[in-house]
Amino acid sequence: MANSFDLIVIGAGITGLTAACCAVDRGKSVALFEAELMGGLVVNVGKLDGYPTTADVSGIELAMTLAEQCMTNGVQITEEPVESVAIDGENKVVKTASGEYRAPKLIVASGASLKKLGVPGEESLYGRGVSQCAFCDGAMFMGQEVVVVGGGDAALQEALHLAEHCSKITMVVRGNRLRARQTYVAQAADDPKFDFRWNTVVEAVKGDDGVEGVTLRDTKKDTTESLACTGVFVFVGLAPNTGYLPDDVARDETGAVTVDAALQSSIPGLYAAGAARSGYPGQIANAVGEGTAAAIAALG
Ligand SMILES: Cc1cc2nc3c(=O)[nH]c(=O)nc-3n(C[C@H](O)[C@H](O)[C@H](O)COP(=O)(O)OP(=O)(O)OC[C@H]3O[C@@H](n4cnc5c(N)ncnc54)[C@H](O)[C@@H]3O)c2cc1C
Repeated sequence: MANSFDLIVIGAGITGLTAACCAVDRGKSVALFEAELMGGLVVNVGKLDGYPTTADVSGIELAMTLAEQCMTNGVQITEEPVESVAIDGENKVVKTASGEYRAPKLIVASGASLKKLGVPGEESLYGRGVSQCAFCDGAMFMGQEVVVVGGGDAALQEALHLAEHCSKITMVVRGNRLRARQTYVAQAADDPKFDFRWNTVVEAVKGDDGVEGVTLRDTKKDTTESLACTGVFVFVGLAPNTGYLPDDVARDETGAVTVDAALQSSIPGLYAAGAARSGYPGQIANAVGEGTAAAIAALG
């Protein structure tokens, strides 16, 4: 049947691209579905850190290398979101706007999306000062004062990029310390452009046509203050993209798919890898490793 494959992979981030490449190299027929841009979360990261290569590589370079390899080797790539998955005996049936596709093996590699703050002003000023991509928007804030919300790797990596353009970076951190890699922490601590607000959350983003400031609340002292800024960059964690899966695929409290040591979910033949799976360690090196491991586990 034209729409039947040995393996279906959902999501063409680094995990899904790696899984599809690995499976097609083993002589299997593979369909890969992508809802947005191939490459996923790293597509706008100008320089990947912690990925073992001989030279600096950007997210888009890595994604395009893998995508080209998939296409050359015969992976069928469909740029459409998967709307639902159903289990039909041994087969997994994937539904998109254009049709239904079947395979006995399925890898969920639909990753995760950056969370929003959910505070007043954030949505209405998104794209007008509120951003989630320093590499895309940083240059627009040349010489200006910005706020970065979050204290993990992504927040620090993006903040350090913003420091190349902006005059001041205020890091708003919910806890009392950063949870980022030591090299980022040391770089930010040594840079006089950085100011840190600990135990602090953003309560509102203010402005009419563009961002003019934020309201901050110190959760320890229970005080609020206004801080003037023209940009607010939000990196407060990830939410797994798994809402299209049937209820009987077991998930943790965040919605990430729970898997065994072979990356198989509660449904035989349905695997999850990368940022969509519970316990994912979070690095590109993990995405590459898990994409490969899931393909090998699924196809033998
Ligand atoms: C700002 C930022 C910077 C980072 N920098 C680094 C770094 O320098 N080094 C490093 O090692 N790691 C970095 N990371 C972590 C890295 O991005 C992730 O570990 C990795 O990209 C996860 O890949 P993934 O393929 O599992 O998920 P994703 O990248 O989320 O890809 C999932 C893909 O699935 C698609 N999708 C979602 N739902 C559907 C659907 N229903 N149907 C079809 N497709 C769907 C999405 O559009 C997406 O393309 C960074 C992360 C962030 C947020």
